[in-house]
Parts: sequence; structure tokens; C-alpha cells
Amino acid sequence: MYCTKCGAQNSDGTRFCTACGASTEPAAEYGALPGGATTSAPGKRLRRVMADKKIAGVCAGFAEYFDMDVTLVRLIWLAMVLIPPAPGVIIYIVAWIILPRS
Ligand SMILES: [Zn+2]
Repeated sequence: MYCTKCGAQNSDGTRFCTACGASTEPAAEYGALPGGATTSAPGKRLRRVMADKKIAGVCAGFAEYFDMDVTLVRLIWLAMVLIPPAPGVIIYIVAWIILPRS
């Protein structure tokens, strides 16, 4: 392996560089590399999308969450609003109140 500090070649298993004395274990030397950052990436969560909203961003939020076309979500919602007993109205208002803005 090669030293990450000075580039000198060291035999495998050597914990410290024979040339400069730096640790040859990358994990110990660079504990905060970008590779570790991917594990802490925020997960997908249901939210109201303010950038793509028609009324309160609920449809856009659902479309984003379920990886659906926002137009399709709006059509489904429209059907739920127009067909009695119109559960879409209640769901929309509830989602409007409880979902966080993005
Ligand atoms: Zn070195």
C-alpha cells in the first residue's frame, strides 16, 4: 500500500508509514470522507411541495412521494372529490393541515 500523506510505498499491514510516520489506515486518517455521508442522506418523506402547487401542494407532494405523475394524482383526487361521498375533500384538508411544507 502507498502512504496517503507522502506517497511512499509501505508493506501491506503496516499501520504507520515508514517514511513520514503517518497512519496508513484511511478509515482512521479520514473518518469523515464523503462516502460516509451517503448513509445519512435524508429519506423520502411525505410533504407538501410548495414549488409545484395548485392549491396547497398536497397533490404534488403525493406525486413526489409515490413517484407518480402529478397530473395523474390530481385526476385521481378529482375523482375522489366529485364522486360521493367525496372522501378526497376530507383527505385533502387533513393532508393540508398535517403535512409539513417543503
Ligand atoms: Zn508517508
